[in-house]
Amino acid sequence: MGMLRERFGTSTVLTTDLDGYESDWGSKHAGPAIAVVRPSTTNEVSIVLATCDANGVAVVPQGGNTGLCGGSVPLADGHPEGKPTVILSLTQMNRILSIDVDRATVTVEAGVTIQALQEACAAEGLLFAPDWGARGSAQVGGGISTNAGGLNVLRWGSLRSQVLGLEAVLPDGRVYDGLRALRKDATGLDVKQMFIGTEGTLGIVTAAVFALHPLPSTHRTAFVALSGLDALMPFFTLCRSESGGLVSAFELMPEDGIRRVRENAPQAQHPFSEPSEWYVLLRLSGGDEVDEVLAKTLESAAAAGVITDAVLAATSDQEQNLWFIRDEVPPPFTFDEYGNKYKFDMAIPVDRVVEFFDAAGPLVDSIVAGTKTFGFGHVGDGNLHFNMYPGPDADLEDYLTRGEELVGAIDELTWTFGGTISAEHGIGQVMRQRLARQKSTVELDVVRAVKSALDPNNTMNPGKVIPRPQS
Ligand SMILES: Cc1cc2nc3c(=O)[nH]c(=O)nc-3n(C[C@H](O)[C@H](O)[C@H](O)COP(=O)(O)OP(=O)(O)OC[C@H]3O[C@@H](n4cnc5c(N)ncnc54)[C@H](O)[C@@H]3O)c2cc1C
Repeated sequence: MGMLRERFGTSTVLTTDLDGYESDWGSKHAGPAIAVVRPSTTNEVSIVLATCDANGVAVVPQGGNTGLCGGSVPLADGHPEGKPTVILSLTQMNRILSIDVDRATVTVEAGVTIQALQEACAAEGLLFAPDWGARGSAQVGGGISTNAGGLNVLRWGSLRSQVLGLEAVLPDGRVYDGLRALRKDATGLDVKQMFIGTEGTLGIVTAAVFALHPLPSTHRTAFVALSGLDALMPFFTLCRSESGGLVSAFELMPEDGIRRVRENAPQAQHPFSEPSEWYVLLRLSGGDEVDEVLAKTLESAAAAGVITDAVLAATSDQEQNLWFIRDEVPPPFTFDEYGNKYKFDMAIPVDRVVEFFDAAGPLVDSIVAGTKTFGFGHVGDGNLHFNMYPGPDADLEDYLTRGEELVGAIDELTWTFGGTISAEHGIGQVMRQRLARQKSTVELDVVRAVKSALDPNNTMNPGKVIPRPQS
């Protein structure tokens, strides 16, 4: 590290007080680094990568460190081949380079946070569509590298579909400059795609050009009580057909989750005096027509018997309260008392979500009696944040001993339903080996061939995403 310290100085190359970088959000994963390097330009990233690659030092890229799969920190037991590891933090690369209103694009460095980008674009009357709970810390580079999803995917697509151009530094320090603002380009292999969703295993994303959208003048949120889980798909279909494409969020929440949010955050108001079992948080975004369309959609749903009640947010405080509940439902906040839970981020075809719930509960209960399940999430995309935990009647030791079997059974069920085990959180270190069972040999051969062509020394984010070959 002496070389890099000499060149860049001690405010760029940190070697003490690294704890905050060495462990991730919620301190779930942690691993040792010999230094944290915080370059300010693409050229500096290039020098760091070339130096590390030439000197047998591994590099773990880190954005906002909010990833939920342990991708942004070194492995607890270090590099698989014993190399020292450096964390490369993109935090200093936080400039919005330009917003082009005519093209409806923005060019931005990787370390800009999602929220800062949303706000800057909104000030120009444009929408940067991706949005999720960690918006204040998560960075665009991290979002691109995990192909993040969130609340607005249903209407505007995932991070991948916003990326028009990209700049990345390859493991040997060469810079791929693909910062083009084109909506069409039919010139062969689209190199930028290799850096989207690959969590820094092929290089560091340093900047991107994103497509922007017209900023909707009106958003209206309704909190809707379903007549039962079976009503989910009919309600979704009805919303799509009646709303003329205005639906921008369709989030499923169980009463159990809301009860726990209110226990932890008493300021959260329950929208209804009489609870139901399942709710949908529905948002329409558009122009002046939004209120009328939403009212008609809800009327039709009530007439069809798929919803029993609905509350419309009439003020921004009410709107904030509804979204506060949704942001707080994720079990890290609500299920702490159970501990020992297993979390899933699967996606399955949207029309099979209810069937999946119906199958998953009995399946895990048949393996370890008393195992409970809990699910919520971006269900309009078929994306379930599904959780499993030992209920009060479960034998905890049996549950823990058979954890792998329980997780394997849910993964298998996901594949049986035509799904994927990671919809939006990525793979990191947590799901690396589980992924091997989802991908075909041909797919894994292609992935490994690309990795060894671009990163023959296994410098970039070792031990993440790409499954080890099975012996
Ligand atoms: C409360 C909460 C709610 C969340 N909700 C959602 C949600 O709804 N939808 C969703 O998709 N995610 C969600 N997440 C997960 C997380 O915010 C996303 O995965 C996000 O994309 C991570 O961005 P980050 O900048 O924090 O990346 P990090 O956590 O720092 O890194 C994530 C991965 O990308 C790599 N990486 C980071 N920056 C770069 C770069 N510039 N170049 C190459 N590789 C890089 C890292 O090595 C790591 O493998 C949530 C997280 C929290 C804490």
